[in-house]
Amino acid sequence: MNAVTGLVYHEDYLKHDTGVHPECAERLVSIMQKLESAGITEELNRITPIKATKEQIRYVHRDAYIMKVEALCARGGGMLDPDTPICPASGEIALLSAGGMLKAVDTVMVDKMRQIFALVRPPGHHAIPNAGMGFCIFNNIAIAAEHLKRKYGIKRILIVDWDVHHGNGTQETFFDDSSVLYYSMHQYPHYPGTGWIDEVGKGEGEGFTVNVPLQAGTTDAGYLYVLENILVPIAMDFKPEFVLVSAGFDAHINDPLASMNVTSSGFGLFAEMIKGIAEKSCDGKMVIALEGGYNLNALAESVLAVFESLLSRDERSEKKAEGIPEPMKKRVEEIRQAQRIYWSNVL
Ligand SMILES: [Zn+2]
Repeated sequence: MNAVTGLVYHEDYLKHDTGVHPECAERLVSIMQKLESAGITEELNRITPIKATKEQIRYVHRDAYIMKVEALCARGGGMLDPDTPICPASGEIALLSAGGMLKAVDTVMVDKMRQIFALVRPPGHHAIPNAGMGFCIFNNIAIAAEHLKRKYGIKRILIVDWDVHHGNGTQETFFDDSSVLYYSMHQYPHYPGTGWIDEVGKGEGEGFTVNVPLQAGTTDAGYLYVLENILVPIAMDFKPEFVLVSAGFDAHINDPLASMNVTSSGFGLFAEMIKGIAEKSCDGKMVIALEGGYNLNALAESVLAVFESLLSRDERSEKKAEGIPEPMKKRVEEIRQAQRIYWSNVL
């Protein structure tokens, strides 16, 4: 047993029934089978989530929206938005999904555990304060960040979002908040349409939103290039007390909903680099939330690669960012230009 690495999972996550839909229960079944057949589950601390309270959901979401979800479930389910079907149990399972992230951050704060991956569904990063959208009901990672602020007085939280879609809900929640640095790298243009370079936060939060819009076809090397050249210097300046990750696996080369070219082992390298930031800045405190990822096999392989990175204690050689195409270098330069005024480390 590895003392510092954990896994949040609950069989009830399968009860959020979306019918014939890419965000389906089989996603988690496929992941758990892969982890078990790789013999990795015995090495992980299993953490059982409990439901978030409504008060905790209200950290991020408005009452009228929470009541809308409850009413739709009570009526037998339906469409929360054109992309987001819910069943009678979905409201309760969404509480358990947010609760999975809360249990994970509590476990890191009070225990010796350091990296926990919460295999939750429904996902959360598109859910905005007054609406669910894009397969998401409650914004699990935003609720966890608010919980860290309110319960533990954490003042600097880094959220890294590598889902292929921009996490508009998380961005909106913390757009004017300097205690949460939101970094997203995503395919652009793509759903939900937000996440351009000039969205940098406002008011107190100006400079604490970092968007890295990427062209279709971006590879592992391209992602590692932007992580090294944008995330790492900004994070080292910000010095997070806690690192949260919105881990979607829909940038995988085989994913049906997007057009990126990331491999399963590529996601392991992203996790390794972000774990390095957490180790340097906050004694390794890091919690990962599952977001998207819709090719069942690619999703399971990629989650396994992330766990392998979390479990490895040796320094592995990082894949060098070679052969970076000129448009990518130009894009990175544009982002640096937008961020340089806020972060002295960004040269
Ligand atoms: Zn996604």
